Amino acid sequence: MAIATVNPTTGQTQRSFEPHTDAEVERRIANARAGFAELAGTTFPQRAAWLWAAADVLDAEAADIARTMTTEMGKTLAAAKAEAAKCAAAMRFYAEHAEEFLQDVPADAEAMGATDAYVRYQPLGVVLAVMPWNFPLWQVVRFAAPALMAGNVGLLKHASNVPQTALYLGDLFARAGFPAGAFQTLLVGSDRVARIVADDRVQAATLTGSEAAGRSLAAEAGRQLKKVVLELGGSDPFIVMPSADLARAAEVAATARCQNNGQSCIAAKRFIVHTEVFDEFADHFVKAMSQLTVGDPLRDSTDVGPLATEQGRQDVVALVDDAVAQGAHLLTGGHAPDRPGWWYPPTVITGVTDAMRLFHEEVFGPVAALYRVDSADDAVTLANATSFGLGASAWTSEPAERERLVRDLDAGMVFVNGMVASHPHLPFGGVKNSGHGRELSAVGIKEFCNAKSVWLA
Ligand code: NAP
Repeated sequence: MAIATVNPTTGQTQRSFEPHTDAEVERRIANARAGFAELAGTTFPQRAAWLWAAADVLDAEAADIARTMTTEMGKTLAAAKAEAAKCAAAMRFYAEHAEEFLQDVPADAEAMGATDAYVRYQPLGVVLAVMPWNFPLWQVVRFAAPALMAGNVGLLKHASNVPQTALYLGDLFARAGFPAGAFQTLLVGSDRVARIVADDRVQAATLTGSEAAGRSLAAEAGRQLKKVVLELGGSDPFIVMPSADLARAAEVAATARCQNNGQSCIAAKRFIVHTEVFDEFADHFVKAMSQLTVGDPLRDSTDVGPLATEQGRQDVVALVDDAVAQGAHLLTGGHAPDRPGWWYPPTVITGVTDAMRLFHEEVFGPVAALYRVDSADDAVTLANATSFGLGASAWTSEPAERERLVRDLDAGMVFVNGMVASHPHLPFGGVKNSGHGRELSAVGIKEFCNAKSVWLA
């Protein structure tokens, strides 16, 4: 894939970039190794001061970087600004809490015949981060902020369609005061990732992206016996039970499906509704979906911009067309307009069966599959009938039903009466083919730490 900014609103290539040469990649890996040695000699307060400074720089430059994101991948400008603000907040969160998250944890020394015993968390070293374009700042910052606070250094291989955001991130932390090698961008295609993972100076890797990319990185990391965290795809269920506030659920459902132009790993993708309230929910939901404004992502009035790439739009078209050809019904949307740019309208489709690709695969665009079920048992069975297990949203006001859904939904995250979202305070990640390992919170910062056991006689 060419490393270039192709504006999805027009389909026009705006800027192309030469990939880094092997010599440049070598220079940056050597810098990273030197940066790690330098960072190892710093204290939490020093790193926290740099991270606060990075948050301040980002806040001051939010309008510009937001526009760059919108130009590169089509999210609305309002969403891009909110993403920049969320990144600055997460940086401050880790600047404030990292030392407390990583303090020594005492163990029962007496039980082991020791005078003292504890666990100490120490950084692993250079971590390669392979990142996707859909939240081009947030995906990177939620890795970088905890990694840097722990004393790790980062090498970023960003998605090839967001090179300007990638280059911005490659400078941001150094401009805030971190050593030059602490966080750098590598402008390389995915075909060069395996070689970087194999480099002896790289200790670990993380990948956020598709299942196929995750399998490929994990295979190489496995060969090299290196630690890896994977944040992969999702086909999150959104379950609506009879006791739910239906109007509210339907309104949130439309947002949960269409946020980020429908391109979020934790977007609700399968809407599983109890038969008693199916018709009423469907009316509200179809209305909310069809009322969303599709258009220029730079305009304040726009809810849904274009999909990020031509290929991404083709993938959505293929999934919907396959379902319709096999008997599924469109309640709204379902036809890509014939005009420049990678547009696709908010779409609701029913009658999806397990013979259709849409039943099994993640649809990365504003397409909602609406299912009717007869009971909570059927809702759970259908919700879990997927190879993914990232998030799940459940709507009910009955405590016993709530407990049952929280217990039985096979997902890394369950949100009740709300849409799935990432928060620095909670671990983020999935089970099954949605990956393994966690980002964010105290759990995420420890992923790239050596939990060193210390026993003293
Ligand atoms: P993608 O094609 O997998 O790309 C993600 C990153 O992986 C890009 O940097 C890409 O580089 C790289 N890559 C692709 N193939 C690779 C390979 N064989 N070896 C090493 N690196 C490789 O994913 P996408 O289409 O951009 O993003 C959408 C997917 O990401 C969806 O499945 C979505 O659910 C998932 N996602 C998950 C999370 C989460 O936290 N769980 C968050 C956001 C997105 P190039 O751009 O150069 O190809």
